[in-house]
Amino acid sequence: MSGACRIVAEILEGLKSHVADGITTADIEAFVDEGLRKRGAVAAFRGYRGFPSSVCVSVNEQVIHGIPSGSARIKNGDIVSIDLGAVFEGFFGDAAITVPVGNISQQARRLMEVTEQSLQYGIEMVVEGNRIGDISSAIQKHVEANGYSVVRAFVGHGIGRSLHEDPAVPNFGKPGQGPRLKEGMTLAIEPMVNAGGCDVRILADDWTAVTTDGSLSAHFEHTVAVTKKGPKILTK
Ligand code: MG
Repeated sequence: MSGACRIVAEILEGLKSHVADGITTADIEAFVDEGLRKRGAVAAFRGYRGFPSSVCVSVNEQVIHGIPSGSARIKNGDIVSIDLGAVFEGFFGDAAITVPVGNISQQARRLMEVTEQSLQYGIEMVVEGNRIGDISSAIQKHVEANGYSVVRAFVGHGIGRSLHEDPAVPNFGKPGQGPRLKEGMTLAIEPMVNAGGCDVRILADDWTAVTTDGSLSAHFEHTVAVTKKGPKILTK
């Protein structure tokens, strides 16, 4: 899993400087495909329940599962959420970042910061003996204290020899509830945070989730292992 997760992290890191005004979301897919090929890894998402690409690229009010397209051009002021899963030697890694393009609004920057912070607060709860609800509640509290909302329709997940394993890791919930964390468990924690309401709808492509009210959305994700020494972020 370390290998798969390192590959995901390296490609996402490369994308931070590659994503720029004027490129298309298909250019991001090409960058990802080349990065996976060079490292001997395979895209986890391509073909997953029929998903047609190796990476999800979701711009502005798109929450997750955006399909790269040669006609979707990225422009100054956009925020671009990129979710990438890789398979390497039989194991999966999964992570997501939201990248700013050029000069973004103060609100967009704050939304991104709060979302990434909420992921960190969630990760801090990845301690043996805690419960999934401790992660969920830490994320939700931080998001809502900042006036944003947590998407309910999609959640994080266990990950390992397959992309989506038990347990579900919601970004909302109560402390002390849900499955107990044990050493060796590996979780993909992935807050999706909307500037407006939490509701989402799916576009006619059957994949792209957008905010119902058209507000901006941000997404950050890490694959994290429960260890005796606390949380270990594998996709760092
Ligand atoms: Mg995931």
